[in-house]
Amino acid sequence: MNLIKTPQEIAIMAEGGKILATVLKEIEKMAVAGITTLQLDRAAEALILAAGAKPAFKGYEGFPYSLCASVNDVIVHGYPSKYMLKNGDLVGLDLGVKWKGYNTDMAVTVAVGEVSFEARRLKEVTKKALRLGLKKARAGVTVGDLGHTIQRFVEDQGFGVVRDLCGHGIGKEVHEDPQIPNYGQRHKGVELKEGMVICIEPMVTQGTWQIRKAKDGYGFATRDGLLAAHFEHTLVITKDGCKVLTEV
Ligand code: MG
Repeated sequence: MNLIKTPQEIAIMAEGGKILATVLKEIEKMAVAGITTLQLDRAAEALILAAGAKPAFKGYEGFPYSLCASVNDVIVHGYPSKYMLKNGDLVGLDLGVKWKGYNTDMAVTVAVGEVSFEARRLKEVTKKALRLGLKKARAGVTVGDLGHTIQRFVEDQGFGVVRDLCGHGIGKEVHEDPQIPNYGQRHKGVELKEGMVICIEPMVTQGTWQIRKAKDGYGFATRDGLLAAHFEHTLVITKDGCKVLTEV
C-alpha cells in the first residue's frame, strides 16, 4: 500500500470529498427532533447515489448501512435505527464516500434543538481539537505531534480523549496506514510526508476516555455513560500545511 498519493489520486479524492461534504451538510440540516437515524441513513445513501458515488461504509466489515449515527454516550460506529432524535441529543454523523475507486471520510456532531451547556461545550471543544490538528498537520511533523496537540488542548478543557479508536490513512481502502491517534508524545511515531492523505478524527468524552460496546452491540460508547463528540476531516499533507479534501 502506497502511503503517498499521486496528484491524480489526490484530485479524485478532492472530488469525492466535495460530494461527501455536500451530502453531509444536507444530512446535518435534517438532524432535528422527530427524525429517526435510519431515515438519516436512507437520505444520505440516496444523496450519495444521486451524485454518482458509492457509500464507502456500506458492506465495509459487514456494516449494512451508509451512515454511522452515534447518539449521546455512543462515540462512533452507532448503527442507524428506529431511534427518533429528540431535543437535547448530541448525535455524531459519520459518513464515507467512494468515488472513482477512492474513499473519503468525514464526521460532524450535531446538537439537536437545545442541548445542555456542557454538551455544547463538548461539541465545540471537539470541533476546535480537529481545527488544531489540521493547523498542526504538515510534512515533517509526526503523528505523535498531532496527537499531542489534540490531547493537550482537550485535557486542558477538562475532557477526555479516546485511546482505543483513532484516525487513519485513507485511499483505495477506508482505513490505511498510518494510524492517527488523538493522544501522543511530541516527535514520536510516523513522520507525515507530502502527499499522504489521512483522516484526523478527535473523539472526545465528557468523563472517562474508557470505552465499552454500545447497547446496540455494534457501536462504541463511553464506559461511564457520559456524552461523547466526534469530528473528522480527510486531508492531504502538503509541504507547508495541509489541504482539507472534505469541504464544499
Ligand atoms: Mg474515519
